[in-house]
Amino acid sequence: MGNAAKATRQNRTLTVDFHDETTYFALLDNTKAFVEFVLAFILSIGFQLNHKSTCHGGSSLTRHSHYVRIRLGGLTIWRIQCTRCKAVFTVLPHFVLRYRQMRPEVARDALLATHGGLSLEWCATICHISPMALYRVICAFGHHSLVWVLTRCGLRLPAYILADEKHSRCLTTKVYLPTLVSGRVLWHLGYSDSKNAAAFTQSYGVFQQTALEQEPSYRVKGALTDGFDSTVSSLRTLFPGARLGFCLRHALNKLPSKLVGVSASVRQGLRAKFHALLHRCRQRTSLRVVAMGQCLRHLANRIDTTVGEAHGERVRHWFEDKKAGWYAVLADPQMPAMSTVLDQAHNAIDRKLFAMKGFHHPGGSQAAFLTGLAHLYNLIPYQRRALHAGKCGVAVEGGRLPTADWMLNLQILTSGGFR
Ligand SMILES: [Zn+2]
Repeated sequence: MGNAAKATRQNRTLTVDFHDETTYFALLDNTKAFVEFVLAFILSIGFQLNHKSTCHGGSSLTRHSHYVRIRLGGLTIWRIQCTRCKAVFTVLPHFVLRYRQMRPEVARDALLATHGGLSLEWCATICHISPMALYRVICAFGHHSLVWVLTRCGLRLPAYILADEKHSRCLTTKVYLPTLVSGRVLWHLGYSDSKNAAAFTQSYGVFQQTALEQEPSYRVKGALTDGFDSTVSSLRTLFPGARLGFCLRHALNKLPSKLVGVSASVRQGLRAKFHALLHRCRQRTSLRVVAMGQCLRHLANRIDTTVGEAHGERVRHWFEDKKAGWYAVLADPQMPAMSTVLDQAHNAIDRKLFAMKGFHHPGGSQAAFLTGLAHLYNLIPYQRRALHAGKCGVAVEGGRLPTADWMLNLQILTSGGFR
């Protein structure tokens, strides 16, 4: 349980869009044209080949060998080789999924239905495949790290992150999904059967390690959480220099629970006061932290006088406990203040977790499956607001996508031969 996504073998697969199958078959007999087509495609998507580390790259490629995929009706697959470093790349035409018999257009519909919240069983039924085959396709994409795929789209590693854990179940056991979000993009969706700091450190550490492999100088400047101890201490361990803030909306929603026994209308009134206070402090351009300290004292005094000193004292203790996290939010204008986008990501994933209940078992490939779902979340276009209609999360965050087709993007971005 809690098995990490398996490390991907150094695969140098290139998914290449040949537009239609007849083009591919026509090029099979023409070495020069084949290599030229592949090079032109790589140029068009703006990627580079993943040569061996000793090689400066370049595009002196030659056809190397071919093999026949029996399961795909005897399809010929070519390999090409760099003439300098001898790295060998497998050219996979767009109408084939790596190691899968399932056609991409079938996978496209099934994945879209999965992303839409339909159960694996129903997705499989409408696409005439087995639920297990669909589960395996999602896992196959999930073996590729989110960090790799997102940085290939030109997204910078996030300087500010939102972190929280989704609670879920594996059969009857409680499990936790440590999640990192920046804007509309999921950077990490882990899996843990424990909610202690060590378990979260391990999960968030997977993100950190991959990020550092991409960019050794990577530093997180700020992280926002809801203030849960294990989350906070795992982030403090992993990102010692980062500002750790607490979500202001969580704070707002928590206040009424500190006023037990007080009438609902009075609690709502005080919550509204707290809301106005946080808003005013965020509006300020200077001395935000000082202003907030003053406002919190005033609010606690007001609670003393309106509902009694016992309540005032309780709220004051709570302020004392949390204010460092709120100050951290106010101290840096770039810090996210609320975890709304993370909650939205969790809600989207929740439907899929519910829909795949039958697939939860302790020996499952949870890490790969969840990462696969996260890829879908990042790459499938969604149309909620006119502003972002037709864009996927990656595009909304300013990433560049190789093509206008999300399924083809998923195939290309999880090809190990591109850099
Ligand atoms: Zn090379």
